[in-house]
Amino acid sequence: LRREGFSSVPDVTWACVGGLDSLKKELNRSIVRCIKYPEFYKKFGVNMQAGVLLFGPPGCGKTLIAKAVAHDAGANFIHIKGPEGLNKYVGESEAYIRRTFARARLNSPCILFFDEIDALTTKRGMEGAWVVERLLNQLLIELDGADQREGVYVIGATNRIDVIDDALLRPGRLGQKYFVPLPSANERHSILKALICSQRKPVSCTVDLDAFARRAECNNLSGADLASLGGRSSQGSFG
Ligand code: ATP
Repeated sequence: LRREGFSSVPDVTWACVGGLDSLKKELNRSIVRCIKYPEFYKKFGVNMQAGVLLFGPPGCGKTLIAKAVAHDAGANFIHIKGPEGLNKYVGESEAYIRRTFARARLNSPCILFFDEIDALTTKRGMEGAWVVERLLNQLLIELDGADQREGVYVIGATNRIDVIDDALLRPGRLGQKYFVPLPSANERHSILKALICSQRKPVSCTVDLDAFARRAECNNLSGADLASLGGRSSQGSFG
């Protein structure tokens, strides 16, 4: 259970993440090293981005990789679900964003993970569009506050890149966007190995993982689908 004011370094390592090799390298370069060697980056003025945006279909590892970034950097991790801050009371949504960033700074170095960040750029449910707009504006203010965001990196995640406001993606804000795709057969193999290594055993250890990953039934399965195979395989449908 998450509590206000509580954050910790996740125990998800790179080894827990199957596939996505070039993304791992890229995030290591753009975030992990900036956190580990801040003096170097400050001196040369490299990477003045507030963070990055991960986009792609559900269950393909966006959350997992954000946690692995935090783990590798030795940074705290705060997980915010996009719609969480929406509040119809005037000023509340802005205050929520301010508090969240203040909390991240207190826990610096910190990865602030905004899941479903599209909720901040679309009108959803009962809330009026103006609530979303105010919340987004406050988020932009925080992303632009270069001096104060010391050691705080934002990773946004969405399944709906089509509705993301361009303002979020301007240089200096979430300046890079990275696609997190459904895994290929080779990547499914790596994911199965990663799941076994992280003690989640979706298939029996006696199964030929490579052949298994190439089976037609596995086409279009996400990492989350593969992780949930345990029940099915133990019933004999995949073993
Ligand atoms: P959503 O868009 O629905 O939030 P997501 O892309 O953030 O999904 P995750 O929450 O990271 O997906 O993945 C869900 C679960 O699926 C993980 O906890 C893990 O068990 C498994 N999984 C997904 N992708 C991978 C991967 N690349 N390597 C290992 N496990 C994976």
